[in-house]
Amino acid sequence: MTAPAGDVLVLFGITGDLAKKMIIPALYQLVRRGELTVPVLGVARSDWDDDQLRAHIADCVRAAVDQEVDEAALERLQRSTHLVSGDYADPAVFTKLADAITAEAGPSAFAVHYLAVPPSLFGTVADGLAGVGLHTRSRLVVEKPFGRDLASARALQALLAKHYPEDRIFRVDHFLGKEPVEDLLVLRFANTLLEPLWSRQWIDRFEITMAEDFDVADRGSFYDAVGTVRDVVQNHLLQVMAYLLMDAPLSDAADDQRDAKFRLLRSVRRLDPADVVRGRYDGYLETPGVAPDSTTETFVAATFRVDDWRWAGVPVHVRAGKALPDTLLDLVAVLRPPPRALFAGGLGAMRPDRIRLRVQPRAGIAITLLAKQPGQGDVPTEIPLTVDFREVLGPVHAPYERIFADALAGDPAHFARMDTIEQAWRIVEPILDPATPPARYGRGTWGPEAAERLPGPEGWVPLPPTAPSTSSATPSPGAAPEGALAR
Ligand code: NDP
Repeated sequence: MTAPAGDVLVLFGITGDLAKKMIIPALYQLVRRGELTVPVLGVARSDWDDDQLRAHIADCVRAAVDQEVDEAALERLQRSTHLVSGDYADPAVFTKLADAITAEAGPSAFAVHYLAVPPSLFGTVADGLAGVGLHTRSRLVVEKPFGRDLASARALQALLAKHYPEDRIFRVDHFLGKEPVEDLLVLRFANTLLEPLWSRQWIDRFEITMAEDFDVADRGSFYDAVGTVRDVVQNHLLQVMAYLLMDAPLSDAADDQRDAKFRLLRSVRRLDPADVVRGRYDGYLETPGVAPDSTTETFVAATFRVDDWRWAGVPVHVRAGKALPDTLLDLVAVLRPPPRALFAGGLGAMRPDRIRLRVQPRAGIAITLLAKQPGQGDVPTEIPLTVDFREVLGPVHAPYERIFADALAGDPAHFARMDTIEQAWRIVEPILDPATPPARYGRGTWGPEAAERLPGPEGWVPLPPTAPSTSSATPSPGAAPEGALAR
């Protein structure tokens, strides 16, 4: 389906934290590359004049860009951005906005309204836009989170759907804007090497690790209301899992891709709490803003089970958390062993082949095979075949650059469709808001002890450290790190 391109970008929340850290720097990069040529209208309570807004834009860009700032591009962004001030609860703001859109882009302009505001305001903004008739020639782009559970996601959807059809609501999951995540589809479906292996016939299990080596810092009150499952599993990791496991889409059209993702997520069982280990790092309760009787997890490990033809019986072990030994997102397919042990030591001595797809910090692929150890006898030893994509392909664009370019162009492929969001809430719902506190774990470890053995007695496949010289990484017990993909 082709959606209209935006004639004007309206950024609700232009003075906020996300705009400062991610959005304004992304807009600068798009302007620099000539990919953002439409006017930008910010909407926020702050009553800034043009000079204050321009100074803020310059501060955000200079803080985020590590190369020399392109002053001409910065100035173009500053000159094309204006602020409409007022409270979203006041209908007068939307009248002012409608006038500003007409002044900047003409009376029949199609607007892209990006809502970088707390989700409790999504409905207010949609109502405000509809109140002045702006909903008929615009689309909404809404930030995460989309609900706290299935019921609240549906309630939020009902507020937006009063004024916007599904094809004009784009729900941001910035992992879908990451090039290495999209690359999962290209690697799987543009090659013939992987796909024949990609089924229960040859794959024994998957392991997905999303680790952060930092704690919640000064965001205690935000994080305590959210926890790891809502913060990264329900959204980012289930979207990534869908790309990793889904069948080939009928075409690369957005809705064909999203249909394939939906079908996969529809096949994932609701989590069984017996397959889940929740953890909380030592010292979390002392964080300002965290409730003394908090039961929020800062770590979760869970086994997902997929009831479809391709993956029946192949567990997908997922772990994610904070204050872990490293910061990375890593996907590992562990292959089945060969049918017979022909070589020294038998099958028990041989670790199975593995295909590792590293999403971040440095995307790449590592295939671990067995080759003959030099010397007497046929003794198999591991050899990693490793490619760092940045070395071969060059640097990638930041996810928010992709998100804004697609939002303006009207390409929904890298936004989450409501049916996949509903499936994701269905899957995690049994482990939301448990009454009991999570198990403790030490900072800089891979979570509570019980999580180490979730994939089986041998534990998780050891992870290569991202930065061998500086990382505090400690490998999983009983194993040495393999084929490093450096930071
Ligand atoms: P902030 O609280 O920092 O910013 C909120 C923005 O909304 C400000 O521009 C504020 O304007 C404006 N605003 C709030 N209430 C009103 C109102 N009643 N009327 C007019 N303007 C209002 O939020 P964040 O930037 O942190 O988050 C925005 C969204 O992005 C949320 O959905 C969040 O979940 C999501 N997100 C944030 C991330 C982050 O790292 N910050 C990461 C991922 C997602 P003013 O400043 O003038 O009051």
